[in-house]
Amino acid sequence: MQWRVPLFEPDLGQPEVDALTRVIRSKWLTMGEVTAQFEQRFAASVGCEHALAVNSGTAALHLALAAADIRPGDDVVCPALTFVATANAIRYTGARPVFADVASLDEWNVSRATLEAVTTPATKAVMVVHYGGYPCDMASIRAWAQERRILVIEDAAHAAGARASGRAMGNWGDFGCFSFFSNKNLTTGEGGMVTTQRGEVMGRLRRLRSHGMTTVTLDRHRGHAYSYDVSELGYNYRMSELNAALGLVQLEALGPRNVQRRELVGQYRSNLENVPGLSVPFRRARGEAAHHLMPVLLPPGCDRRRIMERLKETGIQTSIHYRPVDTFTAYQDAALGPCAHLPLTHEIGARQLTLPLYPSMPAKAVDYVCDHLAQALQDA
Ligand SMILES: *Cc1c(COP(=O)(O)O)cnc(C)c1O
Repeated sequence: MQWRVPLFEPDLGQPEVDALTRVIRSKWLTMGEVTAQFEQRFAASVGCEHALAVNSGTAALHLALAAADIRPGDDVVCPALTFVATANAIRYTGARPVFADVASLDEWNVSRATLEAVTTPATKAVMVVHYGGYPCDMASIRAWAQERRILVIEDAAHAAGARASGRAMGNWGDFGCFSFFSNKNLTTGEGGMVTTQRGEVMGRLRRLRSHGMTTVTLDRHRGHAYSYDVSELGYNYRMSELNAALGLVQLEALGPRNVQRRELVGQYRSNLENVPGLSVPFRRARGEAAHHLMPVLLPPGCDRRRIMERLKETGIQTSIHYRPVDTFTAYQDAALGPCAHLPLTHEIGARQLTLPLYPSMPAKAVDYVCDHLAQALQDA
């Protein structure tokens, strides 16, 4: 389908082509110096001491949970208004994801109060999501978690470049987890990153990333290591040099591209202000958002499928973020879902619509989308 306004389009150009060409000519493709450099620069951009590059955001979440020693019998609280990977990663460890509702119909993030409401003695960690790149209230969540000796993992998949109180998202919790999937604000095609201030877990994270082995291929290639031991069951979550090279180029452009996103979102907000029945969430957002998504809340009872069809007819691609995780077939287990205690999550899940947003989106396209959305709502 040829969209007039696609939901998303990645910003990739000659600098990415050049970076990939350099890696290919170097003949070293697996995790090596380029990946190490990407880790260092990414850590610096977040203000964290350490960063570990992996091959997906899901792998980042899984490794953070493993490093936090989450295991069967533990509960980990997370939102249900998220991509399924958040909860899946918790299940990989054998722990149980326990869903917390979002704060309000304006703030689509979990809060200290909604986390508290589902916390039990088995709660070992919370995994918060900065929905759409809008920061959760981390100061209050962190203080509460510290009091209760609960670990905080940030699923910062939407939040690359976002900050609150001058501190980068991904640097508020014990671990920050980023995704560099194709449609994220910073992309490596596929990829992810764990950030942390906790140097003592880095050795373990490195081993778990590569089969539990005590040395990596580059050390052996350089003659630094004769052999290796396998100290525990690990995974293959390594990033390749090709992905890391893309990441380095994309990291340079992240700040300016997030500014472009912010301006487009400002235009959307003022265009949509007076559309009857429609609301745009995060009116009172804190800090500097990464503006990963452009979500709106349709009027109650509105036929969303019909609105999406109408927009499609005019060449506008839209999407839904998200169907609540507890409603998926794979979550129909007595201990997991469906959950009756998530009224706001379910209401948003039914009324949410995501409009096109990407840094190179023309201002005219924003007007085009807003006009057609207003018209479709009027006709509905
Ligand atoms: C994209 C995303 C992930 C998973 O990232 P992958 O790189 O696709 O594994 C996790 N959580 C959220 C909220 C996401 O949007």
